[in-house]
Amino acid sequence: MVVDALEFSGAGRVLEGSRAAFEFTRLCQGLPAPQDTEIAWRVAGRRDAGTGRLWLNVQAQGSVRLICQRCLGSFVLPLQVANTVGLVRNQAQLDALDALETAGEGSDVEYLVADRQLDVLALIEDELILALPYAPRHDVCPEAADEPEPRDEAKPSPFAVLEQLRKH
Ligand SMILES: [Zn+2]
Repeated sequence: MVVDALEFSGAGRVLEGSRAAFEFTRLCQGLPAPQDTEIAWRVAGRRDAGTGRLWLNVQAQGSVRLICQRCLGSFVLPLQVANTVGLVRNQAQLDALDALETAGEGSDVEYLVADRQLDVLALIEDELILALPYAPRHDVCPEAADEPEPRDEAKPSPFAVLEQLRKH
């Protein structure tokens, strides 16, 4: 899905859709199969009325299957991306912004040289890859969850509670 980035953002256009995670082949490199989850995505262009600056809002929401680095089991992790990318017209502009940032005077906004043939899905995929955790882990690994719960003697059984209710 290719757009002219300057025209797209200048006109405030929006593109959105949904596709299976496995169709993002770079994202799924090294991830376990099957990648049968869905990822919804949206790219919206915006032009600041005052400054004339051009922006792209990049959003994606879905999930991917990952390998837990603790127990090596696979699990599905929700992924959410929401980023705003500034567009510049050429490499010189980008270099100038980078120089500002190095000097500690720029913002930490991400900039992109506006491409006449911007691949929207590749942009989404870049953001998704950045959102992948470096060392994915279950919150609680299944092995740990399967351990029998310690018996809590202080807790009355439901029958005892019923018995108490009956007495009143
Ligand atoms: Zn685990």
